[in-house]
Amino acid sequence: MTEPLTKPSVDAPVTVVAIDGPAGSGKSSVSKAVAERLRFGFLDTGAAYRALAWHALAHEADTSDATAVLEVFGDFDYAISLDPADRWVRVGGTDVTAAIREPRVTDAVSGVARVPAVRQAVNDLFRRLVASSGLRGVVVEGRDITTVVYPDAPVRILLTAAPEVRAARRSAELTDHDAAKVAAALHQRDAADSTVVDFLTAAPGVQVVDSTHLDFEQTVDAVLNVVDSTMGARDGR
Ligand code: C5P
Repeated sequence: MTEPLTKPSVDAPVTVVAIDGPAGSGKSSVSKAVAERLRFGFLDTGAAYRALAWHALAHEADTSDATAVLEVFGDFDYAISLDPADRWVRVGGTDVTAAIREPRVTDAVSGVARVPAVRQAVNDLFRRLVASSGLRGVVVEGRDITTVVYPDAPVRILLTAAPEVRAARRSAELTDHDAAKVAAALHQRDAADSTVVDFLTAAPGVQVVDSTHLDFEQTVDAVLNVVDSTMGARDGR
C-alpha cells in the first residue's frame, strides 16, 4: 500500500465506514470497491467467521455445538489482509482464502457465528486490527458492524436488496450450482443469522442503500454518495 493510505499521525483515529447487509446484497464486492475508491483499507468480517468454521471443520468439531466451537476457538490463529487489492485469509500457516468460500464452510458458518463468546472475542479482534492498522480509514463490512462493532462510526450503511434479487446474484456467482438450491441455502442462512443479529432493518441513524434496481457501479456510487454527504456534513462542508 502506498502513501495516501497511511495515517497522517499515529494518534489520529482511523475513520470507519461501517456496512452491513444480508448474503447476496453485494456488500463484499461493493465494500471492496468503495475502499479502493476512498483509498481506505477493507475488513471483511464474514471471512473471519468463515475462517473459524474452516478451522472447526479441520478439527472435525460439531459446528452446531457451542462447547465444541469454543474448544477449537481456543487455538484459532487467524490473520487477514486489510488491503482491498490483495485479499487473503490465513489460519495458522495455511492460506484459506479460497477454501472459506466452499459450500461446506458456508453451511457451517452460522453455527460458529451463533456463539456469544466467539462474537465478543472476534469483535475485539476486529477493533484492534483496525485501530493498529496504520491506515487513515477502513471500510468494515458484515452483519453487526453498524450496531455492535462500530455503533459510533461516522458512516453507517445497511446495504439491502430484494430476496429474489439476492438469490439470483448468488446463483450467478456459483454457476455450477442448482439455482433453486442456492436460493434455498441463502434464505436458510439468512434465517439462521438473523436470530443472532438483525441485519434486515436499519438501526436508528443507519442509512439504507437498496441495490435491488441498481447495477454494481450504481451501487458503489450510491454508497460513495452516502459517505460523501455524511463525512461532508461532519466536516462542516
Ligand atoms: O458475509 P459472509 O456471507 O461471508 O458471512 C459469512 C457468515 O459469517 C454469515 O452467514 C454470518 O453467519 C457470519 N457473520 C456474522 N457477523 C458478521 C459477519 C458475518 O455473524 N459481522
